[in-house]
Amino acid sequence: MNEIARNNKFHITTFGCQMNLADSSTLVATLLTRGYQRVYDEKEADLIIFNTCSVRVKAEERVFGRLWEVYKYKKANPKVKIAVVGCMAQRLGEKLIEKVPHVDFVLGTDRLFELPDVVQGHNGFHPVMTAFGHENMDAIKPVRENAFAGFVTISRGCDNYCTYCIVPYVRGRERAHSADSIVENVKRMTDEGVVEIMLLGQNVNSYRWNGTDFPKLLERVAAETDIRRIRYMTSHPKDLSNRLVDVMADNEKIMPHIHLPLQSGANRVLEKMGRKYTIEHYNKIVDYIRAKLDYVTITTDLIVGFPSETEAEYEATLRAVTDIQYDSAFMFRYSVRPGTIAAEYDDDVSEADKIRRLNRLIDRQQKISFERNQRELGQVRYSLVEGLSRRSEKFSRARTEGNKIVLFENSGVEPGAVVRVKITSADAFTLHGEIVEDKRC
Ligand code: SAM
Ligand code: SF4
Repeated sequence: MNEIARNNKFHITTFGCQMNLADSSTLVATLLTRGYQRVYDEKEADLIIFNTCSVRVKAEERVFGRLWEVYKYKKANPKVKIAVVGCMAQRLGEKLIEKVPHVDFVLGTDRLFELPDVVQGHNGFHPVMTAFGHENMDAIKPVRENAFAGFVTISRGCDNYCTYCIVPYVRGRERAHSADSIVENVKRMTDEGVVEIMLLGQNVNSYRWNGTDFPKLLERVAAETDIRRIRYMTSHPKDLSNRLVDVMADNEKIMPHIHLPLQSGANRVLEKMGRKYTIEHYNKIVDYIRAKLDYVTITTDLIVGFPSETEAEYEATLRAVTDIQYDSAFMFRYSVRPGTIAAEYDDDVSEADKIRRLNRLIDRQQKISFERNQRELGQVRYSLVEGLSRRSEKFSRARTEGNKIVLFENSGVEPGAVVRVKITSADAFTLHGEIVEDKRC
């Protein structure tokens, strides 16, 4: 019996974005096919894995904190191995082991799927591997974490080099999965019972493969597979075409939700961020989306306190948020990322000002989210049941077409069912409703 068969229990924690969740799902599947067993309590694991995020300094601090926390398991049993994979592993490489010597393996974003070989000490595999250009795109199969929904990564990496962002450095240049393999993977997942897929890329709108662009890819997935619901993320405003919106309008399978990061409402700041669009261009896209799609939700990402952002420029962001009326937003205060272009700029907005700006922005957006959710009252939304409410087993939790969470009385509807829910009340974060026909759609 080899060491793997004896010490084969792994625990994985994922930090960061959907891309990391998708990578973790693939890594989990790889480990399971190699004879490992997944456990959900770190105490029981022989191999503790952290799939990490580098986008903000806080995300990295959380991982460092967790790494010191799990040290006790290793002290109690030196056979326990600790692996750090993904973006932070890519960014820090050997330095990670210098900072936290009890870490055994550090595998970057191109190398994490090789973890089983590294753990087994196979020839040619090393405890620290961060070189790019080693991934086999076709071998990275999308895997679903649950029986009814899954991620399908369509491209990896990013070529945009927004000045604040570490992603191009830790995930490398953009490279596309072939359109044929994406369609095949969606077919396979549909055959396995998946109802909803999310096509993932840092900038899905720049997808190109042998003459297939993103709108064409969406059309192919909708036409050539029996998948019922298609989502995608993330759109970059500089590349989002009217044709993409037209394809959404023509296709009921594509869910009416667009995540369209604005980052700032001030043109000078957008230029300094390297975003390559203006607020006027962004507003035109939003106008087109709302004119073409009868029902659509729009969400965004925003950063406050970017170097040299003035109070007036921050007010422009507040104005944009008020004008555009997002359904919800991820809001961040700027965090310096060593190695990025903006790290050379003077980080001159004080922490106190960043926090004040962020809190006011969150407050404004919460009021808008509340108002947007009131518009849902009386509407009937086809919603995918995900399970029980996290707070009470009396309620089931489902996701509407517009990607909002809706809770309704638990009548035993199974996860994976698509039900019609009439919205009866709402706060800024959650809708509440009732099933209008007690039949699965
Ligand atoms: N590819 C997506 C895009 O273009 O918007 C998102 C990538 S990033 C993982 C998610 C969000 O993190 C960004 O949209 C941005 O708002 C935020 N972000 C990235 N770098 C940041 C930084 N240095 N400080 C604060 N927020 C940051
Ligand atoms: Fe980062 Fe910009 Fe690429 Fe998004 S588009 S991942 S923000 S560099």
